[in-house]
Amino acid sequence: MQYGLVHIAAGDLLREEIAAGTEKGKRAKEYMEKGLLVPSEIVVMMVKDRLLQPDAQEKGWLLDGYPRSLEQAKALEELGIRPDIFILLDVSEENLVERVVGRRLDPETGKIYHLKYSPPENEEIAARLTQRFDDTEEKVKLRLQTHHQNVEDVLSTYEDVIVRIKGDAAKENVFAEIDKVLSSVKEKKSQASMDSKAAAV
Ligand code: AMP
Repeated sequence: MQYGLVHIAAGDLLREEIAAGTEKGKRAKEYMEKGLLVPSEIVVMMVKDRLLQPDAQEKGWLLDGYPRSLEQAKALEELGIRPDIFILLDVSEENLVERVVGRRLDPETGKIYHLKYSPPENEEIAARLTQRFDDTEEKVKLRLQTHHQNVEDVLSTYEDVIVRIKGDAAKENVFAEIDKVLSSVKEKKSQASMDSKAAAV
């Protein structure tokens, strides 16, 4: 990733548990199949442990799909974990459904494709692509309902660091907007660190 951040996705951590056949994974899948939030007693520790690992602590992190409820946001606050920035992508429901339903995973490389917007490079890759069990139109609509029930609570925790970005544009344009925001955060942080070093001298 361009910024060297460690990408931590709560959904990926849950899918790893499912793939490993653990008890946690089995329980989580029941909720995921219904588009519901997996209970916090499973998710919170999992995300917390990942965030506290040395790579994420050293390089910084991009947390994806977490927090998804007020309880989860509070759990982070209690640990003193606060993002420098909270990016909210505004995407129309129609586009969200299209993006999710066309999404595919290359199980060999972990790369994510979209049949229309980011198609596989060749036939060999195309033949091995898989689809997530919850990437159907029916399931994404259930996930959206859960999202609408919780989003305001989560946003209220991060009012001071939220940046809204229009997410309906092509991915290159959306990335360009995100890039601007992240560059400016990086600049501010390195300035602050230089200031504090100067003050210590
Ligand atoms: P995602 O990969 O982010 O689309 O998440 C897929 C599914 O995993 C969601 O529909 C939830 O069932 C579950 N999940 C992911 N993140 C969380 C979270 N922070 N809290 C509870 N459940 C989650």
